Parts: sequence; structure tokens; C-alpha cells
Amino acid sequence: MDGLMMDFQLTLPHLLRRAETYFGNGEIVTRLPDKTFHRTTYADTMRRARQLAVALKELGLERGDRVATLCWNHHQHHEAYFGIPCGGFVLHTLNLRLHPNDLAYIANHAGDRAVIVDRSLLPLLEQFRDRTQIEHVFVVEDSYEELLAGADADDWVDPELDEREASAMCYTSGTTGLPKGVTYSHRSTVLHALGVAANNPLGLGVSVADPILPVVPMFHANAWGYPYIATMVGAKLVYPGLHLDPESLLDALAGEKVAWAAGVPTIWMGILQLLDANPGRWDLSAIKGMFVGGAAVPRAMIAAFEQRHGIPIVQGWGMTETSPVASTACLPHDLADVEDEERFDLLAFAGMPLPFVELRARVGDEEIPWDGEAMGELEVRGPWVASGYYDTPEQADRWTDDGWFKTGDIVSMHPRGYVQIKDRSKDVIKSGGEWISSVELENALMAHPAVAEAAVIAIPDDKWGERPLGCVVLKPGAAATADELREFLAPQFAKWWLPERFEFVDEIPKTSVGKFRKTALRDMFAQEPTPAQPA
Ligand code: ADP
Repeated sequence: MDGLMMDFQLTLPHLLRRAETYFGNGEIVTRLPDKTFHRTTYADTMRRARQLAVALKELGLERGDRVATLCWNHHQHHEAYFGIPCGGFVLHTLNLRLHPNDLAYIANHAGDRAVIVDRSLLPLLEQFRDRTQIEHVFVVEDSYEELLAGADADDWVDPELDEREASAMCYTSGTTGLPKGVTYSHRSTVLHALGVAANNPLGLGVSVADPILPVVPMFHANAWGYPYIATMVGAKLVYPGLHLDPESLLDALAGEKVAWAAGVPTIWMGILQLLDANPGRWDLSAIKGMFVGGAAVPRAMIAAFEQRHGIPIVQGWGMTETSPVASTACLPHDLADVEDEERFDLLAFAGMPLPFVELRARVGDEEIPWDGEAMGELEVRGPWVASGYYDTPEQADRWTDDGWFKTGDIVSMHPRGYVQIKDRSKDVIKSGGEWISSVELENALMAHPAVAEAAVIAIPDDKWGERPLGCVVLKPGAAATADELREFLAPQFAKWWLPERFEFVDEIPKTSVGKFRKTALRDMFAQEPTPAQPA
């Protein structure tokens, strides 16, 4: 049809120019290794991003070439988030907590030609660089500064990118099989930022006046989009550097008057314990909410933060393959005013999809009923959902013939359409032909006053196939026996869901991004079938 809207490309150079033009004075704060705070502005950061784009081109890199980062969360990493894609290159964030063998595989598979690396991480790079095609290494605060100094920001020419060109890539951590690469486009990145910012589930939007602290590492699924979201709305950013312990984070949250912070549940469980032990020590009155996701968020934690500390938690669900945010907990209209107990139940769900994301759950070809009971595999589609893995054709069966991505998450659907994540398919416990949700048992255990952390895994069982085993970390100075924990669970679950066995451990092993590492627990406790016991 004639006279339609412009075909304006959704690319990151627009966000770069927008931040320079309108939010130049906005602050980007970084916690340095010595714990002092470094302060810079969007104007400076975006100028340096342009310098980086110019310098990479002058090095001879070509459009579409991959440039890796091996960095903590800081302002130079923010420059890379913009400078690399705005130069027409592809930002590849390497996960600094992976084994050098995995990093070698990932950097090689992605075809990285250059890397920006923190000085403290140089020894890690040296353990795998010779197994990659990396030609150029730039060390933050050292050769990286020389690289920028040799480039003039005014020489940056907008490469007039197509919105469907790649802007960034990220590998899934590969807990099963080899790591798989997800490639984001400029369009998907921009739409994801808009989608997350516009999604305002508890009436707690992100605005220019709301400082944001991403605890989530910048190598974990684009730091959930926060670098782009903050730049888009002009919000002050507070990057914690490598200081991710609860005390340092609380100091930063209070000192920088942070409104929004984002990270995986294990981070907030540590913070909750410290806050409970030191009431009133930190002034957190600026906090509007915390965005928590990447793993199931315990209901007890949501209730504790709100009731004891007045801090709302917004739960998000997503995957590297979904950019990552795809759904958030929410309380529309009639549900906003329900009693606390029901409200916390609802907030413990992964909620409803963001606009333009669609969800369905199926067993085989059949969609499961929305009755809160039936379980099926969650499938997702939308403009920021991957359509395939980078150069991994053997994984094509993760997508259905009609174009949905099979998440591998086992869910049930609340009658109103909210998703409840019950398990990852590899973690679900199959006992006597029925599924037991490890996530639900964990959530319930973590509501026990003596329990700091709990993970439930399947152990082989001669009679039932598999049975649940509870791995529990007790709070310092607290005590509870296996029998007490079983009694605590009993009113909430069918008898056959209750774990016969508990193991008390000092710590639940964590993955490279801070989730419970259930494979390690299975290695520790689930090797031998336990002898059948009388039912
Ligand atoms: P990995 O955990 O393999 O490093 P991702 O960060 O992409 O990779 O993890 C995605 C997975 O994390 C999802 O498939 C889901 O199992 C889990 N997950 C994410 N958010 C939630 C949530 N709110 N509740 C439960 N599980 C979640």
C-alpha cells in the first residue's frame, strides 16, 4: 500500500546517538578492583565506543567479524557492548567462569578474531588463546587504552547496518553436550530492550530517574539487556566490577541509591541473610524492586524481601535463546489486590509473556490444558527468540516444524495463562511413571526457617525408577533433621512426592552463572541405585 511508514532500521547506532544527544550527563559508575568507585558519563562512554568502532576497522576487521570480551561488569565492557556492534562487528561475550577447554572450543567455534580482556583475566586467556584464531588481544587499562587513543571518534561513519545483521552472540553454558551459540540481531536486541522496558509488571517501570545495578554478569545472556535498556532510557548504571559478595553489593545499592538491581536467586538469598542479620544497617529506600530470574525464585524469598524489607521482587523467566527475557510475574487488575498469601503464590510463577512473545506447552503434539496441574514442555516464539544455533545443524530438532523453540522446560499453566516452571526436563524426577517437580520441593524446603538453600535431585531407585533426594544447606547456627524436614513438607505434597533421603551439605555447588549445579549433586549422591524399601 502507498504512503506507509518509513522502513527505519532498528539498530544500535540509534541508541548510541540517542544517549549522546539526550543523556550525555547520565552517569556510569564502576566498582574498581580496589573497591573505589570510578565515575564517567554516557557522553564519554559513547565517544569511546565510537573510538573502539573506528579502531577495530583500522585494524582490518571486516563487517560481521567476531570480537570477544573476557571481562567483568564495568564501563569499558559497556563501551564494547556498543562500539563493537556499532562498528558492524559482532560482540561475543565469553564466560570467564568456564574451563579453558570450553573457552577454547567456544572462541574457536565462533571464529573470534580479537578479544578485549581484563588484566586480571589474562592468565585465563593465556590458557586457551593458542587453540583459537584470535589475532588481537587488548588488555583493559593497558593496550585497550592505547587502541582507543589511536582512534578519533569523529572518524566513525555509521555503517548503515541492516537490522537483521548480527550484533552479538552468546553461548549457552552447555550443561548437556557442547555449548551452543546464539546470535542476536540488531533488531532482536532493540526489540528486546523495548519489550523489557515497556513491560511494567508491578507498576514499577524503569525510567531516566532510576539507577540500575546489573549483578547479572555481562557474559550471561547480554546482562539480560540492562546495558541497552539503561542506555535507551538514560538511567544511571552502577556496575559492580568483580565485587559480588552480599556486603559489597549492599554498600553499592545503598551508596549509589539504586532503584533496580538484577541477578540470579542465589545472589539475593545471600543478601537476604545479611539484611536479616543486620536490620537497618543499609538505607535501601531508593530501591523500587529487584529483577530476579535465571532459575526458580523461591516463594519464601519473595515474601521475605517484601514483608521484612519492603522490597518487591519481579521474577523473570528466560533463556540465552530468548535474549533472554521472555516472561515476567505479574498481577493484572483483579489479582493485584488479593491477599498476601495468594499474591506471593502468583509472584512465584514465571508469569505471562512479554508483548510479542508467545508461549504454549505441549506433550507430543497436544497442548496441555490450562488447569495448573498438567505438565508439558514449554515452547516459545517471538522476535527475540533464536531461530537456530550458530553453525550447529544437528540441533535443528530443538525447533518444531511450525517454528516454535522447544525450551526443555517442563511447566504447568495456571488457568489465567501464567507459566509455572516445574523443572528442566533433565532435572524432573520420574517416579513410578509420574513426574515430581524438583523446583516445587526446593521452594517448599527453602521456606523452612532453618534452611538456607535446598536443591532436590533424582536418584535411581530399583522399585520406582527414580526418587527425590533433598540436598540441604542449613543456616548458620540452625538445626533440622531429615524427619523434621519431611514433616514440614508433608501437608503440602502427596505422600509419594516426599524425599526419603536428605543430605546435609555445606554448600550447593553452583554453575558459572550462579545456578544450582545439579549435575554435581547427582555425581555426589546419585550414582548407585538405592535398595528398594518397603512402600
Ligand atoms: P544455562 O542455565 O544453561 O546456563 P540459560 O541461562 O539460558 O542457560 O538458562 C535458561 C534456563 O534457566 C531455562 O531454560 C530455565 O530452566 C531456567 N530458568 C530461567 N529463569 C527461570 C525462572 N524464573 N524459574 C525457573 N527456571 C528458570
